Amino acid sequence: MLTVGVDVGGTSVRAGVVNADGAVLDTSRAATPSGEEALEEAVGAAVAELAARHRVAAVGLAVAGFVAQDRRTVLFAPHLAWRRAPVADRISQRVGMPVVLEHDANAAALAEHRFGAARGARIAALVAIGTGIGGALLIDGKVFRGAHGVAPELGHLRLVPEGRSCPCGKNGCWERYCSGTALTTTAVELLARHPGVSTVLAREALGDSRAVTGRRVAGAARDGDPLAKQAMSDLARWLGEGLALVADVYDPEVVVIGGGVSESAPLFLDEARERYAAVVTGAGHRPLARIRTAQLGDDAGIVGVATVARELATPRTARNGRR
Ligand SMILES: [Zn+2]
Repeated sequence: MLTVGVDVGGTSVRAGVVNADGAVLDTSRAATPSGEEALEEAVGAAVAELAARHRVAAVGLAVAGFVAQDRRTVLFAPHLAWRRAPVADRISQRVGMPVVLEHDANAAALAEHRFGAARGARIAALVAIGTGIGGALLIDGKVFRGAHGVAPELGHLRLVPEGRSCPCGKNGCWERYCSGTALTTTAVELLARHPGVSTVLAREALGDSRAVTGRRVAGAARDGDPLAKQAMSDLARWLGEGLALVADVYDPEVVVIGGGVSESAPLFLDEARERYAAVVTGAGHRPLARIRTAQLGDDAGIVGVATVARELATPRTARNGRR
């Protein structure tokens, strides 16, 4: 049986046809429109395009936002038009198939657990480092959602009292120190503190600090630029500090580091592991979580939510029969 997974993000709507082994067989992509109606039309069109080429049985939507416990309603999505919107029913009417929703980090975690870096782990956490931090926790392969469906908000754990301000309204949130955005902030701060230091970044930022992006900082660090390496080391430090908090609360077997920034993991992951091992409670006297990079890359959300859709579309008797 084939199902469609749709990753509904702030910039693009990406859809893929996924088989039972988690392989993506075909894809479609469109820019994310701003209105609610237009967004649902775009999702419907992406599904219709793929359904015209493949026999698909159900659809899953990985949404960058809060999804209600029943996985049929989007409560709030900061970068999408949906507010308390019954998205699953509306899309289901459009495409004539069962539709299920899942938070994008949960979907990615499910995919990594089924097919990737967290395979076989009883307690697994996902820390997706991109523009911000997306977090997910799996217990026995099932998503932990908290009492109201919004846990865990790992990116907004306060690591630095009176620290950098966050769009969420708080200060010192983890993602302000450990994300692509944080890399930029740190690099610009370092440039201001060390004027006249001739580095790649200083030349790029000449007159316009907006030229310094997380991706450029990572690239410069790879090229050996000392200031960019320092910014990367700062990210590593805060990743380790945050992982120690995650471990104190959840004691996971595996933490999967995903998101766009994880592509630069060789530049920061060893240092982050060392920091984590040094500051976690009971350091030196307890087993440590394995910290691994994600294996499914950009497709994790699509594969994860397509797998959720498959389970929804498979009759329970058939599922029991297979065991
Ligand atoms: Zn915050």
